Amino acid sequence: MRARTGGLGPTLGVVASYGPGTALVVVDLQNDFADPQGSLTVAGGLQVVPVVNHEVQEATAAGALVAYTQDWHPPNTPHFAKDGGRWPVHCVRGTWGAQLVPSLVVAGPVVRKGVGGEDGYSGFTVRDPVTGAVTQTQLADLLQERSVAKVVVVGLATDYCVKETALDAVRLGFATSVVAAGVRAVDLAPGDGARALEELAQAGVEVI
Ligand SMILES: [Zn+2]
Repeated sequence: MRARTGGLGPTLGVVASYGPGTALVVVDLQNDFADPQGSLTVAGGLQVVPVVNHEVQEATAAGALVAYTQDWHPPNTPHFAKDGGRWPVHCVRGTWGAQLVPSLVVAGPVVRKGVGGEDGYSGFTVRDPVTGAVTQTQLADLLQERSVAKVVVVGLATDYCVKETALDAVRLGFATSVVAAGVRAVDLAPGDGARALEELAQAGVEVI
């Protein structure tokens, strides 16, 4: 870890460094996750938006790619508890809840996941909830087209989509960082977010 926070609370200073070989990946900053009215609200979700917007500005100014993931489910999917899965209905395609939060600066391509009813935790891969088959989204192609070597991850939620996206980035060979001030956790069990950051650090992700 780079010493940066020092217990002084959120900072809007740039925490990651960017260049043309870097991609900032903004995970699932959507109304259902970030807005208090959302169906699967992550506590403090909207607080990360100014932090993320600042990273977006710095990344863009440095010539880095900025890519966004968007959970984008059909109305019925085994991803949802009502259809035998785990989660309340959220981010149904075309709804307010699925939209990126209005205050987010969008400065690059948006990669949708879960489009065909898959579980979509990672921005890089989705998993068929019935067969377990894993398929790739376009995200890795987008990064490889731009010769990206380093990935910086921010967004929601630390213990699910941020974690899985960062772990996939490492598996794919990208030098990977997560900006701690730019993520928040669901914390279904207390401490899930902190454990996710520890797991990421053990997997070789730089938590900054
Ligand atoms: Zn989902």
